[in-house]
Amino acid sequence: SNSKYDKDKGVNVQVILRCRPLSDDEMRLNTPVVISCNEHRREVTAVQNIANKQIDRTFVFDKVFGPTSKQKDLFDQAISPIVNEVLEGYNCTIFAYGQTGTGKTYTMEGGGRKTKNEEFPSHAGVIPRAVRKIFGILEAQCAEYSMKVTFLELYNEEITDLLAPDESKFSDDKSKKPIALMEDGKGGVFVRGLEEEIVYTAGEIYKILDKGSAKRRTAETLLNKQSSRSHSIFSITIHIKECTPEGEEMIKCGKLNLVDLAGSENISRSGAREGRAREAGEINKSLLTLGRVINSLVEHSGHVPYRDSKLTRLLRDSLGGKTKTCIIATITPSIHCLEETLSTLDYAHRAK
Ligand code: ADP
Ligand code: MG
Repeated sequence: SNSKYDKDKGVNVQVILRCRPLSDDEMRLNTPVVISCNEHRREVTAVQNIANKQIDRTFVFDKVFGPTSKQKDLFDQAISPIVNEVLEGYNCTIFAYGQTGTGKTYTMEGGGRKTKNEEFPSHAGVIPRAVRKIFGILEAQCAEYSMKVTFLELYNEEITDLLAPDESKFSDDKSKKPIALMEDGKGGVFVRGLEEEIVYTAGEIYKILDKGSAKRRTAETLLNKQSSRSHSIFSITIHIKECTPEGEEMIKCGKLNLVDLAGSENISRSGAREGRAREAGEINKSLLTLGRVINSLVEHSGHVPYRDSKLTRLLRDSLGGKTKTCIIATITPSIHCLEETLSTLDYAHRAK
């Protein structure tokens, strides 16, 4: 395999491509499809008509999930191994990257409505599945462990705590808790004022997730689709107590960050495609910087510009070095999105 997701090579960035199906509305309108996926060959082909000539462009990824792929397929084939790494004590980050409306939130959180009696919804996304697997393994091992979660949103380089007790953001209340990103003096960062919830069961995490994403949706309607420009970061930190054969106690610590990025349309028109991205104001510094950070990690180009954005500062302990990164790039097959789709394919392909 030519995958760069390989323990021995020291480059641990894996890029996955997922194409959603046409929506019911798009089907009704007979929207032409311009993307084809070959999961077996790990290829995605975009068909473009330029001056009456048909031009095919094909991109290869570490894994490809076509329009009929199920949440379970993506989790079992691509994410489950990463969860194992977290339990081995690695810091891992999974990003969803793509144009608004292509399935980032569907992939990370899930879609549809929850029915009361459904044990585990088939449309549950990466986050609830990862949580279920983590608890399943720890409970089966009868391990002694502790776990905490944080859930925050980054918009315009400002952090909002999605777990903070209500109305900290939208009231004019001056008592709202200030959230600041601080250096810890050891090369790391911490977020001052961020809620860290200690959790004991998977059910508790699902509740936290629901609460946080409901808050994110409220923000969306209040602030005019802000969410397409904001990143959300859900992090789970696990400490596992282990005994060596000599009876010595050891604590293994792993962290899993699950990141639903801002819509990529926020950067592609500001020149990100040329690689030498010029910024249209501050529209999405974090998204641009993430691209540069991943590029320099993949290309071993020395200086990694972590410090240039809040997103990369926040994730610094989980990007590069002894960590694993997975980017799930999401696209739609519709002809109407072809230009954005091509820029997502280019961005994702450069990260390989
Ligand atoms: P984004 O977060 O990228 O803006 P969403 O996750 O909100 O996009 O997805 C947009 C719409 O498409 C939602 O109605 C979602 O349920 C649907 N959708 C996205 N991906 C899929 C998929 N793989 N299968 C079925 N429906 C999907
Ligand atoms: Mg979304």
